[in-house]
Amino acid sequence: MALKKILTFPATVLRQKAKKIIIFDEALRQLAADMGETMYDAPGVGLAANQIGVLRQIVVVDVSKEEKEKEFITLINPVISAGEGCVSGEEGCLSVLEYEAQVKRFQKIHVTAHDLDGKPLAFDAEDRFARIIQHEVDHLQGKLFIDRISALKRSLYKKKLKKLLKGRK
Ligand SMILES: [Zn+2]
Repeated sequence: MALKKILTFPATVLRQKAKKIIIFDEALRQLAADMGETMYDAPGVGLAANQIGVLRQIVVVDVSKEEKEKEFITLINPVISAGEGCVSGEEGCLSVLEYEAQVKRFQKIHVTAHDLDGKPLAFDAEDRFARIIQHEVDHLQGKLFIDRISALKRSLYKKKLKKLLKGRK
């Protein structure tokens, strides 16, 4: 396994759409394992392939029930086929440095995807689990959670980031 570098906004690859996966092989398993390791190292609760510079439709989502566990699921070609309810909740992103904001999401969603063997999956997700999946599926579409906040908040964040990046040079 290997840790991957997590790219951050405004990296171009975060704005591109990931391609559907049609080959389920050992390299895909390796990618998923690396993504899981990278997510826990960060640490985060979800990671989409775009974030490590890979434009393929694969995400990993933490499903640990206890804090020390490292159990995650891999969703290939995930699609949110239905959603209901609307809840606001705090979100951050490993690719959006030092920022958190309230984002509205569906409370409950229906998800279809494939597992690592290419087997179709279909399930419902609610609350925190649903929020993470919606956030990660956005990544595969080239979207970030800061696209879902007000234009004013977004421009304030961009100013803050500029200063932050300047300070790091
Ligand atoms: Zn994210």
